[in-house]
Parts: sequence; C-alpha cells; structure tokens
Amino acid sequence: LDTMDYGPALESDAIARDWLARGPFGHFIGGNFTPPGQMFETRDPASDAVLAQVTQGTDQDVDAAVSAARAAFPAWSGLPGHARARHIYAIARQIQKRERLFSVLECLDNGKPIREARDIDVPLAVRHFYHHAGWAELVAEEFAGQGPHGVCGQIIPWNFPLLMLAWKIAPALAAGNTVVLKPAEYTPLTALLFAEICIEAGLPAGVVNIVTGDGTTGAALVAHEGVDKIAFTGSTNVGREIRRATAGTDKALTLELGGKSPFIVFADADLDAAVEGVVDAIWFNQGEVCCAGSRILVAEAVAGQFEAKLRARMGGLRVGAPLDKSTDIGAIVHPRQLVRIHDLLAQGQAAGGVLYQGQAPNGCFCAPALMVEVSPANPCVSEEIFGPVAVMMSFRTPDEAVELANNTRYGLAASIWSENLTQAMDIAARVKAGVVWINATNLFDANAPFGGTRESGFGREGARAGMAAYLRPARADAKPVAPTPLAPLPQSAS
Ligand code: NAD
Repeated sequence: LDTMDYGPALESDAIARDWLARGPFGHFIGGNFTPPGQMFETRDPASDAVLAQVTQGTDQDVDAAVSAARAAFPAWSGLPGHARARHIYAIARQIQKRERLFSVLECLDNGKPIREARDIDVPLAVRHFYHHAGWAELVAEEFAGQGPHGVCGQIIPWNFPLLMLAWKIAPALAAGNTVVLKPAEYTPLTALLFAEICIEAGLPAGVVNIVTGDGTTGAALVAHEGVDKIAFTGSTNVGREIRRATAGTDKALTLELGGKSPFIVFADADLDAAVEGVVDAIWFNQGEVCCAGSRILVAEAVAGQFEAKLRARMGGLRVGAPLDKSTDIGAIVHPRQLVRIHDLLAQGQAAGGVLYQGQAPNGCFCAPALMVEVSPANPCVSEEIFGPVAVMMSFRTPDEAVELANNTRYGLAASIWSENLTQAMDIAARVKAGVVWINATNLFDANAPFGGTRESGFGREGARAGMAAYLRPARADAKPVAPTPLAPLPQSAS
C-alpha cells in the first residue's frame, strides 16, 4: 500500500506533477481516453498555476459517451451481483493503492487542505465503493423484482470532487446501471485519474464514461434521449433548470442541492465541544460544504460566552498553503467564488451585520468569518455563501430555536448541541432537515442516507435509500429477463 507520509510539514506535489505531465486530457469513453479536443484550463487556486488542459465536452462527445454506456448496459446489468461486486471491490482497492496521488491531486485542483483530502475525501470515497460492492451482492435479493434504470447521467460539483464521484458511481454500478459522469469544470482531475482506476480494475469498457466540460456539457447530458436517469449535485438554481429540462420525460431524477443549515446550541451544551463543532461545521473545507452549519443559533443565556470562545478559536485557525499539513483552511476553489463571498459579506454588513474575521494570506484565500447582529432578512442569513462564514443569532426558548432553524428555503442538515438528549431528540424531530446530528456535525458514512428536503432537493445517497434511487420500482407485469451470457472476468479484477 502507498501509505500516507505524516513526516515533513509540506506534502510534496511531485507525485501529482508526474501524473499531470500526461495531459492534455481527453474524455474517457468506451474504455479509452479520446484525443484532446477544444481545451480549457484547470488551475491550482492557491498559486494560480495552470495544472492541466482538459477537453470541453461537446454534444457529440456526450452522444459518444451515452452510446458507449448504452452498449455496455446489457452485459453489465446481466452480470450476477457477486461479479459486479468483484469489480467494485477492485475499484476500491485500486483507489486505496493510489490514495496519496488522489489526495495531492484533489488538494491542488480544489485548494482544500491536504489533511482533509487525505483523512476525509479519499478514505470516505474508498469506503463508499467497499460498501456498495456489498450492495451489488445483495441487490437481487433485497430489491427483488426491481431492475437498474439503464444509463445514468451524473453531474457533480467541485467541493468534494472524488467523494461526490464515489457517491454517484458506486451505487449506480452496484445496481447494474452504466454511467456517464461529468465532473465540475474547476476540478476535473481526480475524475480523470479515476478513469485510469477503471482500466486498472478491469471494469468492462463503457460501464463508466467520464466527459469533462462546463455547464453546457452538463446540459447536453441532461437533454440526451439515451439517458434514463439524471443524478445531480450542485446549486439549487441549476437543479431547478434540470428539473424543468427533464419534466415530461421518462427520466428518473435525484437532486442534491444547496443548504443553509442551522447549528443550534442550547444553554446546557458542552460549549467547548460545540465550539469545535462549529470549526467542523463551517470552517471545514473552506465552508464549501452543502450541509455546512452556517447559521449558529445560541441560547441567549450563553450567547456572549459562546461568541467569545468562538472568536478566540477562529483567530487561531491557520489559513494558507493547502499542501501544508498544519493548514486548517486552504484556498477558495476559484477567484469567481471568492468575489461572490466578498459580495455577500459586503451586503451583510450593509444590512447591519457586524463582521469578525481571522487572518488570511493574499490571493484566493478567505479568512474565517463570523457575522453577528444579523436579522433573518440579512442576505448572509438567507443566502448560501459557500465560504468560511457563519452568522450567529440567539434564541430564548426551544420553540424560538425551532422557528429560527426552519426559517429558510432549505432543508439539508441540522446540528443540535445539548446535554439533555430528550430535548435534543425532541428538537431533531421538529427541525426540517434531511440529516440531523446531535452533539456532532458533518458526519458521513456510506451506510447513512444523505439528502435534503425543500429547496435542498430530493432523493438520498448512501445506504438502502441511496440504492433504491438507482433502481426502477418493481412493475406488477414485469417478466424475468434472462441474463446475457458472460465474458470471463479479467485477471486484474481479482
Ligand atoms: P453548479 O450548480 O454551478 O455546478 C454543479 C455542476 O453542474 C457542475 O458540474 C456544472 O458544470 C454543472 N452545470 C452547471 N450548469 C448546468 C446546467 N445548466 N445543466 C447541467 N449541468 C450544469 O454548482 P457548483 O458551484 O459547482 O457547486 C456549489 C453548489 O453545489 C452549492 O450551492 C452547494 O450547496 C451545492 N452542493 C450540494 C451538495 C449536496 O449534496 N446537496 C453537495 C455539494 C454541493
């Protein structure tokens, strides 16, 4: 195993430089990399250096990828579950063997701290493939009478590029679907490395196809008639467009969208633990987390004390080089995103908010921030900022806490802090959110379904509910389908 080196303070990027030298990159279609087409750049936001040239996917590219996925579907869906499982296990194992390269590449392309890429993104992605290899073995029995959709078009954002890929591809393959995945234009690299993993793992050609490009490539995938299901993670606005585009078609759809999740601190909470919770809730991954606890709601009796503790902790966070192992907050993914964060902070201050902010180097970095003296109408309270910015408000009664928590268009997650578990469970049931954590935050596991309500979307990823999203409901008139004869598994899949 290529185990992680916890030694030097600065992780070397040499391993990624060697890999990047393979560029410019084409798409991965039908088991092969296509010749590069019209290119766009992907950059390291921390240094602004160009990392690689990547191909902008055209309608023809999307069509070729969908055709390849369509051609691969009968044999893949006809494999017995244990044979699909073997391939998915092989993928998990291959990612593990190259976890250092995945971590460094993710860190360079996205700007996230190496510590997080190494300890969170990559291991969770691996876990997702292992978990779903198990599901591939169980699916025929557990979902008797149900079948895969066919070709899944999957569109993912830039905040957890490899992890979001795993959340999409692992259950799709376990259920017997084939896939065309489009990574976000800011962070296409780990998806291209994943394409190599598919080859190494002996995955049959066309089962996974990766087409890079921007929103126009995503829109072409959504519109393609050969796609049976769309799975999207990204902004609520694009989710809305996709819902419109698929309305009246036979395409199945799941949407994982934005959030403005409450982080509720009761007077009896362990305040020091809750402060660490805030660090993980909003200052993890630069705050570029859909379920970030971005609205801190604190019981009035402890609000002053909690704010003081929080500001002291915020001042100690280190913002800087993503490859530095002591960095807490890395670079914002793209200058455009940084401008958006600054715009929202200015609007929040204009509306009366008082802003406290830590230190950050020059460049595409944002210091961790806390805004107080905010009303529910303040744009920093109502809009998803997708940066390391929390707003803080206080409440007097549990009912008021619930009212404030639910005063949002979104409903992705919530975090509740109290030593009184009866109270915490009561509040959990009343908060409108797909995921609720008690005395914890941002915990993810492949065996816990994740997803939202209201404008945070619908459908679940992970666990049984996530598998169900990749299967058609059983039809009363369904006739058993004879499996297609199998080709022998390649040696490398063992
Ligand atoms: P985005 O919606 O702009 O882009 C997401 C993906 O959609 C990208 O791959 C993009 O190229 C593609 N896309 C853009 N326009 C498209 C179109 N018209 N048709 C099809 N595809 C299109 O979002 P983003 O800026 O990349 O990501 C940040 C947003 O994603 C935030 O709002 C965040 O809350 C949300 N998000 C949600 C979850 C979740 O699980 N609910 C997870 C991560 C991020």
